[in-house]
Amino acid sequence: MELELQSLNLPCDDERLIVMAGPCSAETEEQVITTARQLAAKGCHMFRAGVWKPRTKPGGFEGNGETALPWLKTVKEETGMMVATEVATPEHVELALKYGVDILWVGARTTANPFAMQALADSLCGVDVPVFVKNPVNPDLELWIGAMERINQAGVKRLAAIHRGFSSYDKKIYRNLPMWQIPIELRRRIPQLPIICDPSHIGGSRELIAPLCQQAMDLGFDGLIVESHCNPDSAWSDAKQQVTPDVLDYILSLIAIRDDK
Ligand code: PEP
Ligand code: MN
Repeated sequence: MELELQSLNLPCDDERLIVMAGPCSAETEEQVITTARQLAAKGCHMFRAGVWKPRTKPGGFEGNGETALPWLKTVKEETGMMVATEVATPEHVELALKYGVDILWVGARTTANPFAMQALADSLCGVDVPVFVKNPVNPDLELWIGAMERINQAGVKRLAAIHRGFSSYDKKIYRNLPMWQIPIELRRRIPQLPIICDPSHIGGSRELIAPLCQQAMDLGFDGLIVESHCNPDSAWSDAKQQVTPDVLDYILSLIAIRDDK
């Protein structure tokens, strides 16, 4: 099946590159607003923050849920950035839209579950919102495409894929193996689908963000989603892989974009 797509039509500084940045999790109102202000000052147009957090084990910080949605609304109003959050259930979709979230993304654990994907797709019927679909945790291209087909069949035409790497038992270098051949094959199969790289969840560490961003650019990716926090060491989730807005700006200044983009 072919995907029926429309241009994402998102604001960017450089039209060759979609950049979305923000903390792994919306922790407190102050952390959200401070990070957002710093990112906006660096020219960032799209802000991400997880409100519902899928944690591997119980007992960790699982997100502030609905409480954090007004913080994202404040970010929108104060900075003019578009705001994005992860949705995993129809209830998340309903609440995110109620508070004016502009872009929804589907997390890797949800993409791996066809029942959850179908429920999400049903809840998006007739809604015109951009949806970014992360690859499933396992290296299964058909499952990734199938998840995007479900969302597309619900009528969502502003779709993008996020490559966040694939889980493996052996975590010597990468937190999630990039297995670049999979997004490359996705590009070959669906050339018009924007593909965004998530170097934060692939690398799992700050040092790997710049080289992973450059690799994605060299492979012709359309954008980057990078975790950025005003005080990364104190982050409540994914502390090791978050960078300050200052460092992110520096990394982006180093990245060379291909001439044919
Ligand atoms: C995230 O973006 O913070 C996240 C939980 O990502 P993933 O679904 O890729 O693990
Ligand atoms: Mn994260």
